[in-house]
Amino acid sequence: MVGVPEGDTVWLAAKRMHAALAGATLRRGEFRVPQLAAVDLAGVGVREVVPRGKHLLTRLADDRTLRSHFRMDGSWHLYRPGTRWHGGPASDVRAVLATDDWECVGYRLHDLALVPTAEEHTLVGHLGPDVLGPDWDLDEALRRLRAHPDAQIGVALLDQRNLAGIGNVYKVESLFLCGVHPWARVADVPDLANLVTRARTLMLANREHPEQSTTGSLRRGEDHWVAGRRGRQCRRCGTTILLGEQGPATEERVTWWCPRCQAARSPIDAAARTGEPDHPRPLTTYR
Ligand SMILES: [Zn+2]
Repeated sequence: MVGVPEGDTVWLAAKRMHAALAGATLRRGEFRVPQLAAVDLAGVGVREVVPRGKHLLTRLADDRTLRSHFRMDGSWHLYRPGTRWHGGPASDVRAVLATDDWECVGYRLHDLALVPTAEEHTLVGHLGPDVLGPDWDLDEALRRLRAHPDAQIGVALLDQRNLAGIGNVYKVESLFLCGVHPWARVADVPDLANLVTRARTLMLANREHPEQSTTGSLRRGEDHWVAGRRGRQCRRCGTTILLGEQGPATEERVTWWCPRCQAARSPIDAAARTGEPDHPRPLTTYR
């Protein structure tokens, strides 16, 4: 599977959750995670639901905020009361927020936390500018990226402290569209503003629907340039798309790229020739 929740997924989830819950009173609010097992939100009003990067914040009328995070596999499903839930086995349910009109069921949610709204910063204060936020700040995102000029751009774009919301698909697709090698140093990216803007444009184009297409086509197999296309021909030049692991140990993410459209420049070439551990590592298995 290529698609995992990124900022646009969370943005759409927040929009739908907000439409369902804002202004209503919960008749049921319960959690199936140890840290919130004793919490009962029945009778509490919901003020609003907002995205912050890849975090979803449900602000309650009693001045508390529920934070949830999708990571790789989480989701909120909305059902009308009496409808059968179908987001997975019951053991995957982590939260239920229900009103008279809606049942919001959180499957495989991560990082569930309930804090005073005034202390939201303890959960999301470390995040860089929100790519899809109303206060998006390109200059600040660029400043944070450039503060680590030696970082690999493919890693830096995923670091939510630089800018919040970009995930793996929009990372690899924007790098392809801008002809940037994923292992390039931030300082060597010719037009960093264009790269970041391209990623944001892709996310803006996708935020109103659950699919993540970067080519303009929603047809399966035609919806990405390089993501999920290892071993297939580049749509632009016909070169075989490569797949490698990138990122710090234990946090590696897969990266697809076209070695011709995204030609490596030194010192990456040099690193690859000398076999330094930092050069792209081909993967033998897909995951
Ligand atoms: Zn190519």
